[in-house]
Amino acid sequence: GCGFGRKKMIGAAAAATSSVSVDSIGYFIRNKLGVWCKSRNDRWELGKIESAVGEDVTVRVSNGNMITVSRRELLPANTDVLDGVDDLVELSYLNEPSVLHSLQYRYNRDIIYSKAGPVLLAFNPFKDVNIYGDDFVAVYKEKILDNPHVYAVADAAYNDMMKDGVNQSIIISGESGAGKTETAKFAMQYLASVKSQNYEMKSKLIQTSCILEAFGNAKTSRNWNSSRFGKLIDIHYSAEGMISGACIQTYLFEKSRVSQICRGERSYHVFYQMCAGAPPVLKDKLNLKMSSEYKFLNQSGCLKINGVDDAHNFIKLVDAFDTLGIHGLDQENIFELLAAILWLGNISFAAIDEELVEPVADEASRSAARLMGCKMDDLMMVLSTNRAHNMTEPLTLQQATDKRNTLANFVYESLFNWLIEEVNTSLKGNTQHTRHAISILDTYGFESLQRNSLQQLFINYADERLQQHFIRHLCKLEQEEYELEGIHWKKVEFEDNQECLDLFEKKPMGIISMLNECSNSSIATDTTFTEKIKQHLSYNLCISCEEGAFRVRHYAREVQYDASGLLEKDSDKLQFDTIQLLSSCKKPLNLSGSASGVMNQVQAAGQSVGSKFMDHLSKLINQMENSKQHFIRCIKPNTKKLPGIYESDIVWEQLKCSQVMEVMQISKSRYPLRFTHQEFASRFGCLLSTNVMCMDPLSTSVAILQQHRVPTQMYQVGFTKLFFRGQVDALENLRQEVL
Ligand code: ADP
Ligand code: MG
Repeated sequence: GCGFGRKKMIGAAAAATSSVSVDSIGYFIRNKLGVWCKSRNDRWELGKIESAVGEDVTVRVSNGNMITVSRRELLPANTDVLDGVDDLVELSYLNEPSVLHSLQYRYNRDIIYSKAGPVLLAFNPFKDVNIYGDDFVAVYKEKILDNPHVYAVADAAYNDMMKDGVNQSIIISGESGAGKTETAKFAMQYLASVKSQNYEMKSKLIQTSCILEAFGNAKTSRNWNSSRFGKLIDIHYSAEGMISGACIQTYLFEKSRVSQICRGERSYHVFYQMCAGAPPVLKDKLNLKMSSEYKFLNQSGCLKINGVDDAHNFIKLVDAFDTLGIHGLDQENIFELLAAILWLGNISFAAIDEELVEPVADEASRSAARLMGCKMDDLMMVLSTNRAHNMTEPLTLQQATDKRNTLANFVYESLFNWLIEEVNTSLKGNTQHTRHAISILDTYGFESLQRNSLQQLFINYADERLQQHFIRHLCKLEQEEYELEGIHWKKVEFEDNQECLDLFEKKPMGIISMLNECSNSSIATDTTFTEKIKQHLSYNLCISCEEGAFRVRHYAREVQYDASGLLEKDSDKLQFDTIQLLSSCKKPLNLSGSASGVMNQVQAAGQSVGSKFMDHLSKLINQMENSKQHFIRCIKPNTKKLPGIYESDIVWEQLKCSQVMEVMQISKSRYPLRFTHQEFASRFGCLLSTNVMCMDPLSTSVAILQQHRVPTQMYQVGFTKLFFRGQVDALENLRQEVL
């Protein structure tokens, strides 16, 4: 042992200042306390000071070895009484190794949730941890447990909504595979059960995930169930706290996955579910083969996911359709379109001269046409020529394949959008009773792949925007208020990503506006676009250009974006003959409706994908700003997707780039309670002896504080407000006695 009793250690730790400086290290050295130092392999080691000579300090680390380092490289350790605290802010020393140690201590004990001040940190356990389900919902509802948990966050949101009558939002962020979607589901599960809710609405709400995931999730290299869209779910409540309905918004759906998948990844789950699980009658009707027979599915060399039963999930999907009231004929139409897409992918092309091709009239093209409800000849025509201004041009293999893929992607995206509308109709419920809402945002999360294109550009822009929102809310506004009020406050520096956002958002010379302009222009190309970036944005330090690509320094990491194909993807236009073909489709759902929507857009000189998305995102953020916000940050403990492995460097990278450390530092010294002088004076004026009652509110407030000997470190007096760390409940008790 180090010779200190536990009590004494706490006292000592508390006595030292909480901001880590070399001075406090002096205190640690003199008293031979616990410290962190880096070993030769660059890992943090916990140790005890053995001796100190000048600048050099010798530390005995936990395996008994001695390490000698400069005193500047030491960081104070917290007493082990503080091991595994619920809220990291309770640590006396908030430094990198202490925070990592505390989180690892909890993770090793399967305690996956921790608080970082106002933020809930959620570690992905990559295994079942048995802390969910009705029993646990009840425990958090009754407040039998009050440790950090996603249920506790959902409960706080619900209670705040009921108490204050304001909308709430739960904002879930984190990298791909960190656990956002699972966390969102747990939050939803809690919010659907917090009061004995209408059974039908509750089961509908829970079942929507099944549909959304079948159609919008896929196996990627980072997550076997990666959501390929962002979503915001609003759950509406009546004045009595009963669910009155719900509504889902989605954004940035990745339609290109339908026709193109990287090696080892999969297309959307529903295709494999249908191929594996459709009953024989349906299979016959759709002329459905095994997934291995379809090019769109077999191109990646991955048809199955370990431990996932696609056939069984098909049955669950049909169940979910039934629960949400998506019935017989609609279901059949959905499956017809899915099969049509698979057959489209199998359409092959034959050379008609050196360069030009035409589609082959075979089982694939016949099935595709039949299932889409269009004429075989029309489909063949669209896939063999481009028709514009009464001119007909034959196609090269590349052009024909692109046209076919664009058609397939469009059909799938229309189906996805149609489904979301159906789900929303079913969840609409009783809008008359709606008073307030709790929204759950399950974001995409930062992405950096081998090859990054428009999809990643927008995903990362959205992530950047949400990070700014997070920082603004938790760091900037709070500190600005202290400054404005003139109270004594040691400013915590944090990184502002405004410069990177300007890069995207400035009008007319930002990436999104410039993309919009170029993709609406008939002469611009991907190359002229990058030239434009170079010309107008090179003053911005967050971007650099290369041949055919540009690199953006995001808050999370630097990403290189490939310029080829950007404009086409951003304009997202269907060719006129494709639109005509779709409008002629007899059966399926609203394909003709979607096509005419596209037609209108073509006529109205289209707004590009990017600028539409920028507007959508602003609305989304606006909605959140007008609500009380609860933040959850999901964290991946390792990149292997395995339980029980804690990779400190991976965890630290996520904590650091999301600036959770800064948020904690601010919340450690923050003043959570505040009153205007007027409010305080009129509420607690009764605690003063009567003869001073004629003073102004400020003097009255100060007099109350002094008369009742509130310790000065517990409050500060600002220009218009009083800021408290605590002690208000003591005054409140006194007030109750006086009244
Ligand atoms: P994200 O949406 O952030 O990309 P997901 O929510 O899809 O990540 O989580 C990825 C996988 O991690 C899930 O499919 C699941 O296997 C596992 N996982 C995430 N959170 C939990 C949890 N709380 N308990 C058990 N497993 C989890
Ligand atoms: Mg997800």
